[in-house]
Amino acid sequence: MPSGVFMLFVLGHEFWRRICPLSFISQIPRALGWERKRTRVNPRTGKVRKELVKVAKNSWLARNHLSLQFALFFLGLCNRILFVNSDRLALGLFLTFTILAALTVGFLYGGKSWCQYICPMAPVQKIYAQPRALLNSTAHKGDRQPITQSMCRTVSPDGKELSACVACQSPCIDIDAEKSYWDEIDNPQQQMLYYGYVGITIGYFFYYYLYAGAWDYYLSGAWAHEENPILLF
Ligand code: SF4
Repeated sequence: MPSGVFMLFVLGHEFWRRICPLSFISQIPRALGWERKRTRVNPRTGKVRKELVKVAKNSWLARNHLSLQFALFFLGLCNRILFVNSDRLALGLFLTFTILAALTVGFLYGGKSWCQYICPMAPVQKIYAQPRALLNSTAHKGDRQPITQSMCRTVSPDGKELSACVACQSPCIDIDAEKSYWDEIDNPQQQMLYYGYVGITIGYFFYYYLYAGAWDYYLSGAWAHEENPILLF
């Protein structure tokens, strides 16, 4: 976990998103051509065409994804402390469910909809890697390449990288992290995220103190081997 935070601080979200296993898994349906498509009929010409399904701009998910992702992050952390840390079966089920969720979202919606709208790690990326990390590339400065930061991409038969962007979110943190940060700066959900993250961090560590009555318990790592702590509380 500390190395994840270090990576975000120093190398930025663009590095993280290009090595994240769940981001990779969510792109498997795209790579295999299994994404959900809807049929559209042109009313004038009568021509039928297949269209990629994206999260609609005014949908509940598009408007509330930051709150949803933060809630999932909170639930995931509580789940980890209370059940997953100390139970192999619970850990296995938790990871399997998460992998299946990333695959399902990758099938249902185009682009990186898992990362943009559902992934509970996205709020952490925002906190540590926006507006930009120490070694982030600077898409916002005008040195625009056709394929910036962690933008969706594919490789042509002759080995060249090509953009595979389908505009699943605008502005997109994977194209220009700094632009996306300033665009959302007055979004109350983003503000709640910043304050809420401080509270969640304090609560996460203080839980061990409340449980054991001393900080030694957390530092010893004994909690990772105990039976379900919530039942012992
Ligand atoms: S690069 Fe395009 S398709 Fe990929 S996440 Fe950003 S907006 Fe979505």
